[in-house]
Amino acid sequence: MTVLKKNILITGSSDGIGKSLAIQFAKLGANIILLGKDSNKLDHVYDQLDHSHPAQKHLILQADLASLTNESAQEILVAISQDFEVLDGIIHNAAILGTMSPLADYDLSTWDKVMNVNLRAPFILTKTLKVMLEDAGMPRLIFTSSGVANVGKSFWGAYSVSKFGMKGLAEIFVDELETTSNIKVFNFDPGKTRTSMRATAYPAEDPRTLKTADELLDCYLWFFTEESSSATKNYFNFSELSKIVSAT
Ligand code: NDP
Repeated sequence: MTVLKKNILITGSSDGIGKSLAIQFAKLGANIILLGKDSNKLDHVYDQLDHSHPAQKHLILQADLASLTNESAQEILVAISQDFEVLDGIIHNAAILGTMSPLADYDLSTWDKVMNVNLRAPFILTKTLKVMLEDAGMPRLIFTSSGVANVGKSFWGAYSVSKFGMKGLAEIFVDELETTSNIKVFNFDPGKTRTSMRATAYPAEDPRTLKTADELLDCYLWFFTEESSSATKNYFNFSELSKIVSAT
């Protein structure tokens, strides 16, 4: 079985895809830094993390990414560096859907909140924590995309615009970091997955027809392999990455 001796920060790890990744990565031996806004939910996930590998430890960071600042990101850096010497990966997974409504009716405060959580926070966190990634042997920066990052669709409003923006953010980091650091940057669209966000966006859909968050593990694990170091592209969706993973 793979043993993942890595320190990985997963934003939005109190629920959905982030929670599943945290629990499964911990089972493989990783040290998980949980980050979310609800401390009760984070405590609950922490209790489910495996602590059985030698020297394994996990950390909870309660932070509302809607109001992240340079100063609060700096506090996060200090908290992580007190427990860990290096950071092997950041999975920028936290996001909110906002409202499904036409742009003409889109509420401005909701727009700002979606942009802050989905786009501004990953930008601030990355530029602040980059220094800890650079000390790792094979560091990874993983952004989370969506089908509506590539095609503008009615009513997806700020969520879609934030994911278009994240695509740009990831591409710029790729270009800036490939010559100046050993950090490998990916942007991954996990596709339709059975979570509360998906249920909110598609209330009439039968969740049993969707893959579970646990089924994403192999794709996320691939980002932490040697093989992904030589990947020539940085953007993947679930179906294309699944084919690569199953061929290896
Ligand atoms: P969920 O809504 O199930 O989980 C979102 C996570 O983000 C939760 O842990 C939530 O915490 C956290 N979060 C939300 N707001 C904040 C905040 N202000 N500060 C800190 N943490 C916050 O979403 P999914 O698991 O479905 O989505 C995970 C990622 O995958 C997202 O980036 C999403 O865009 C993307 N994605 C999902 C798809 C799907 O079908 N599910 C499809 C394509 C992309 P809390 O529980 O406290 O609110």
